[in-house]
Amino acid sequence: MFTLQHRHKELPARTGNLVTVHGSVSTPAFVVVATRATVKAVEPQALVDIGVQIVISNSYHLHLRPGEETVASLGGLHGFSGWRGPTMTDSGGFQVFSLGAGKEHGVGKVASIFPDEDPQPRASHYRQGKSLVQLTDEGATFRSIIDGSKHFFSPENVIELERKLGADIILVLDECTSPLHDYAYTKAAMERTHRWAQRALHAFEKTADHRSYPNTDQVLYGIVQGGAYEDLRKESARVIGGMLFGGFAIGGSLGKSKEEMHHVLDWTIPLLPDDKARHLLGIGEIEDIFAGVRRGVDTFDCAAATRIARNGTVFLKSEPRHRINLRNTRFRDDPRPIDETCDCFTCRQHSRAYLSHLCRSGEFSFYRLATIHNLRFLVRLMERIREAIESDELDELEAEWRTPA
Ligand SMILES: [Zn+2]
Repeated sequence: MFTLQHRHKELPARTGNLVTVHGSVSTPAFVVVATRATVKAVEPQALVDIGVQIVISNSYHLHLRPGEETVASLGGLHGFSGWRGPTMTDSGGFQVFSLGAGKEHGVGKVASIFPDEDPQPRASHYRQGKSLVQLTDEGATFRSIIDGSKHFFSPENVIELERKLGADIILVLDECTSPLHDYAYTKAAMERTHRWAQRALHAFEKTADHRSYPNTDQVLYGIVQGGAYEDLRKESARVIGGMLFGGFAIGGSLGKSKEEMHHVLDWTIPLLPDDKARHLLGIGEIEDIFAGVRRGVDTFDCAAATRIARNGTVFLKSEPRHRINLRNTRFRDDPRPIDETCDCFTCRQHSRAYLSHLCRSGEFSFYRLATIHNLRFLVRLMERIREAIESDELDELEAEWRTPA
């Protein structure tokens, strides 16, 4: 399913090819977040035009609405959504974490996942709440955020759920810890994740030739946990890496800072099988993509690129942090496109002045146009990264992208 193409001469970075029945993905690749079976504001045909290779949807959200039976009856995610390309589903472990310890610790999607790097910690982001989830070895019981109904996730029934959704690459249920969990808790959660991984693999094998599922060519990824503790990460990489998964994801708390995340990758990746793909869950800022790729990460997913677009922030290489905010008054009369070197639909058609107007007016068209640019920007960055690995010049490319913060 995964074939290695080229190893960088000086670094663990590599290029490869992920082959699925819905097409192949050149790696390293950015996996675009389509939580509810859609990339927010952008339809599937536009994703094809942008050059998006693969998307990731969320089992937890699709289970709550519209329900996996509905998706399965319409041909799985591919038939249901009209996106015919490679697709992944996340298991919902992170959402269970967000409702549980994430809520108790005030850490999660809204707050910075790296608490030490939050420039302006806002009290509301760190407000601690009561856990909405009960975890046992059997699985996780939680209440729906939509209607308060009770649900239960186990390693086995999440496989069943993902079989019905029919993505090409599916992930096991894991217990995600928060960066604020102590060593003892993180270790216990990691051990539970390992037991769950074994059960998920067994359930996956048992359902392999079930003709009623929309996609019988699925691949199951295991997830490495262990927080930011060196011995735990290494143990988890050995245990999960030793199981017969089709690929591996690195998940959970990656530490309190980006530096800690780099350590986590340095400890984990060398212990994973070299001939299988590695996915870094929920990480995908530009500097993180470089940090991950140079350490041997093959795929990333991150909601930030599309989320910031809807807020007016679009990528531009020459600017600090490679971004500008179109709400800024300096763009009101600016006739230039967002990026003169970009070939996306938005940059070919529209000025900063017009986009700035749409953004400040809260027009729906702005969400689509800004998202198209940010996704095209990332698609082209990943192309450049693959070329740089092929020519053993990743350091040079990364230096070119290092700008003052
Ligand atoms: Zn553009």
